[in-house]
Amino acid sequence: MHLKGIGMTIIPIKKVKKIHIIINPAAGRIEPILPIINLAMNEAKIDWDVFVTKKKHDPFLFAQEAVKRNVDAVAVYGGDGTVMEAMSALLGSEIPLAILPGGTANVLATELKVPKDLKEACGLICHQNPQAKIIDVGKMNKQYFILRLGLGFEAEMMKQADRKIKNRFGRLAYVISSAKALKKIQEVQYELIIDGKKYTEKGVTCIVANSGNIGYSDLSLHNQIDVSDGLLDVVIVRRAHIGLLAYVIKHVFAKQPADHMELVQHWQGKDIQVSASPEQVVQCDGEPLEKIPVHAQVVPGAVRILVPAEKPE
Ligand SMILES: [Mg+2]
Repeated sequence: MHLKGIGMTIIPIKKVKKIHIIINPAAGRIEPILPIINLAMNEAKIDWDVFVTKKKHDPFLFAQEAVKRNVDAVAVYGGDGTVMEAMSALLGSEIPLAILPGGTANVLATELKVPKDLKEACGLICHQNPQAKIIDVGKMNKQYFILRLGLGFEAEMMKQADRKIKNRFGRLAYVISSAKALKKIQEVQYELIIDGKKYTEKGVTCIVANSGNIGYSDLSLHNQIDVSDGLLDVVIVRRAHIGLLAYVIKHVFAKQPADHMELVQHWQGKDIQVSASPEQVVQCDGEPLEKIPVHAQVVPGAVRILVPAEKPE
């Protein structure tokens, strides 16, 4: 049985008294980080230590250290990549993670309604009755993901939108890169095994999603892809056109009536295998990977993330 509905996946946690704060100084935003954190933690009488990352796996190592020292919570100032690194050290522990959104991409924070403002995000840690949401993560081979995997068009687009273009053009980078990726578009035969059942489907891109927020826009999505339902969602887009992503956002992730169902296929499952012929570029949480067959599993209820208190409707 998996938990359905938002209420059942949000739990009260004990008041934070001791916290490790991991800061990625290379995160996208320029803002005075320490004075804001210092003020918030001092006012709430929280004992805090700060760890500054220099290398890719530092967030993991620092979070591992926090588990050893049995802190009440770990906070991460950074983007989705930093959060995922730290999170993978917390899996299986009950130590909650606080996201202090500091990156260019904070898709998970957006999905969980964590405030973008640093002072407000610190407020979740300092709260008298803090709350956490229990969320799933995906696992592919030995790597964890919080958002999604993509094969084909979507992965090609991520690959084309490199850091330089992203810095220069921001979100427009994806429009530029999707135009580039469209030139390479091809129809692919996808072989899927979803919880032991086989499917063969032709399409231009295949997405395996844990989180519903697609991250390219500020659209607040009314989605069926639930980060706490113990399931991964598999979406195959059958045909490409210039508005492909806008289409996916509107009709798949935003749960519009299925009047174009000839264009997309949607499944859910716990154990997903995807192979493509010809082989396709793969992206995992926005990071391009080699052309490898995908075997993804959901790790249900893997981690606790501090979220704002629910307001009565
Ligand atoms: Mg899910």
